Amino acid sequence: MKELLERITGFIADYGGEQYLDDPNFKYACDVADTLRFKRGDLLHEKLAERHPSIFYAKEWDRYVIAGVPDGIGEDFVYEFKSTVFSNSAKYKWRIDNSVLPVTRTQANIYAWIFNKRRWVVEIFSCADLRLYKWEGEVDYGDVERTLKGFKAAEEGGEILPPVCWKCDSCKYRDHCKVKDRC
Ligand code: SF4
Repeated sequence: MKELLERITGFIADYGGEQYLDDPNFKYACDVADTLRFKRGDLLHEKLAERHPSIFYAKEWDRYVIAGVPDGIGEDFVYEFKSTVFSNSAKYKWRIDNSVLPVTRTQANIYAWIFNKRRWVVEIFSCADLRLYKWEGEVDYGDVERTLKGFKAAEEGGEILPPVCWKCDSCKYRDHCKVKDRC
């Protein structure tokens, strides 16, 4: 196991923008690290994510404190990196646009709100087609408000809606969660 991890973390990659990463090491990292589940994201993050400073910070909303640590904080943006087995290619059932991106954008909006930033930048690496996708946008405070109100409603005993089912597959709380049964 140690040797495998060293081999995965040992390669250096040049990349830029929306390019296909045809270095076989990325495929290897996806395949092997996938068996380690949460490690895949850590490994690909280490090799591919943009480098920006970050800190833990929190902000009050209603009677809550909303806390977070983005993957990076720039002058006027927050940065978030993800990896996935989904793709934006038509042959895959789950497109990134309809699955990982909305979830990550919601997270990035909340970070942008916490850190008073104007924009968010999201990069998602697809293990399906070894491609790095990038999106940027202006913070949407309406979306932040909707998300936080949803948390509040659930915490106050309202109906908890299950997420899209793929979220539950790798969730570390799934063994204790009853909501997933309605997914
Ligand atoms: S298993 Fe439960 S907590 Fe985890 S993503 Fe699914 S519904 Fe949410």
